[in-house]
Amino acid sequence: MSTDTKNNTALMEKIVSLCKRRGFIFQSSEIYGGCGGVWDYGPLGAELKRNLRTAWWNAMTREREDVLGLDASILMNPAIWKASGHVDTFADLMRECSLTNKRVRADHVDPQEGVIMNFTGAEAATGWKLDRVISVLMKKAEHIESFRKRVRLLIASNAGEAAGKPEEIVLLGEAKGDAVQGSVDYHPETGGALGPARPFNLMLKTYLGPTATEADVTYLRPETAQAIFAQFKNVFDSSRVKVPFGICQIGKAFRNEVTPKNFTFRSREFEQMELEFFIKPDEAVEIISGEVARWIEGADLSEPQANWGWDLWHRYWVDQRTKFYEGIGLGGVLEYYWQTPEDLAHYARACVDILCDFPFGTEELEGIAARGSFDLTAHQNASTKSQEVFDEDLKNAAAKLTDEQKEALIQKRLAAEQSKVKGAPMPEADVRAWFERLFKGSYVPHVIEPSAGLDRMALAIIANAFNETEKTDEKGKKEAITVLKLHPRVAPIKVGVFPLLKNKPELVAKAREVYALLKKHMNCFYDETASIGRRYARQDEVGTPFGITIDFDTLGENPELLDTVTLRHRDGGVQERVNISDLLGKLLAAVS
Ligand code: ATP
Repeated sequence: MSTDTKNNTALMEKIVSLCKRRGFIFQSSEIYGGCGGVWDYGPLGAELKRNLRTAWWNAMTREREDVLGLDASILMNPAIWKASGHVDTFADLMRECSLTNKRVRADHVDPQEGVIMNFTGAEAATGWKLDRVISVLMKKAEHIESFRKRVRLLIASNAGEAAGKPEEIVLLGEAKGDAVQGSVDYHPETGGALGPARPFNLMLKTYLGPTATEADVTYLRPETAQAIFAQFKNVFDSSRVKVPFGICQIGKAFRNEVTPKNFTFRSREFEQMELEFFIKPDEAVEIISGEVARWIEGADLSEPQANWGWDLWHRYWVDQRTKFYEGIGLGGVLEYYWQTPEDLAHYARACVDILCDFPFGTEELEGIAARGSFDLTAHQNASTKSQEVFDEDLKNAAAKLTDEQKEALIQKRLAAEQSKVKGAPMPEADVRAWFERLFKGSYVPHVIEPSAGLDRMALAIIANAFNETEKTDEKGKKEAITVLKLHPRVAPIKVGVFPLLKNKPELVAKAREVYALLKKHMNCFYDETASIGRRYARQDEVGTPFGITIDFDTLGENPELLDTVTLRHRDGGVQERVNISDLLGKLLAAVS
């Protein structure tokens, strides 16, 4: 393990430990040994997530005129998942350990080094027998005796009670095989030889209905997006909106991830925040505006324009989402991965992954895809319910086109279909039929999809805010000091309120008064135990950006300071004297 890897692993351990110690994130079902890939958020984690949800919801819908919210159910008609392609293709390639049957994602096997050890089988005094050849990688630097002990343990835990005690298992026909380097054919945890890669559908099945037969099978949604598509027409018809407009929602999603890992980063139950922003096809823009504006380096993305083509809309949403991350303190740690034509799904025109720095590497936080009309068209075909919208402006503009102009548009599209890199070109008859509908003002909207994960966002926020320094006290004892430098907008507690002394009823009463004043407007924490320094440190550790101390000057010991408090800023430890009457306004401006 390199020093960097060791440091990063140690950092991740500290973050996980802080999350548990201070009530951000707990292992689900911990008292029963946990539940793989599932996490619970404690009091502070729940507040942090809530703040992120609110920030996203406000930015994506409340502060805009062109995006509406939705709160759809987790369970849906399974036909939705058939139409969307999830039943047939939402799979990861996985490989199975021949020793333990443990699965691992084929692309998640780190290269390994060691010696292959083969056994013809194993047996136990109980009469139990394993009658097949097993190959296990003895890792570099692993002692032969501890290796054998490990193999016995793995065999015993897989065989259950039948094999009896691990130490009584006899490994048969041991033979040393080749030394390997950089091999991806052995399970990274067990060392057992991996079987061939097989697709593994990630959707979690359940039954809807009392008979619990195959006919009742449905799925816990693996993404929130499909409900938006399925409800597109209802939202459109009930909300008096015009394309371009969007529908967004926040909610739980479930994926039976083969290898959940990196704390909450890859979980089996998580929350997504997704927007489907519906736009006109470029041909409709051209008919209405006479041209389609394309993205060029440095293009002004501040205000959407009627002549924007799909690529400008896509860039616009990348820009909007970047601004969002800047607003919650993640601006400096983002990277972008633009998928290449080979990476892209056949229907996608572009997709960018917004990546963020985590202790375990630079990983995806959000994907923003231009998906054409793939999703709505798939649901239109499968449900036989039209997903078209009628656009009066388009109809009127198309009515003014000459036949030559119409034919020129058709020819342009036919040429584009022929030069497609992926997927079959649309047959000419279908292209002509599509234009016929378009000239009448009807089309299935195209979509830009910014899709973010709330849990990954919360982890990114905590990991990037984590700061540890060392302090030496008066007795020369070294102590690690942790400060979570959370942006005030997302911090779970916005302000700590502290009476200087807890045994002075006048101080306590005044502090309670200030606490009551602020508590109605933001999450505050009242603390009267331990020294002021200790109380500040406790709040620094959970990222509270402000601390308020009520002292004797507040009560008028120094008449000039009557009804003022000390306001301490977590970052930099700056302290200022503020009138109680100014506190609320000052704090609200900082945390909203
Ligand atoms: P990955 O490649 O990491 O598996 P993905 O490309 O499959 O992610 P999407 O299907 O595009 O992810 O989902 C959108 C967002 O949902 C991701 O960017 C991520 O933030 C979040 N997300 C997806 N899968 C998980 C998971 N298992 N645990 C936590 N968040 C997830």
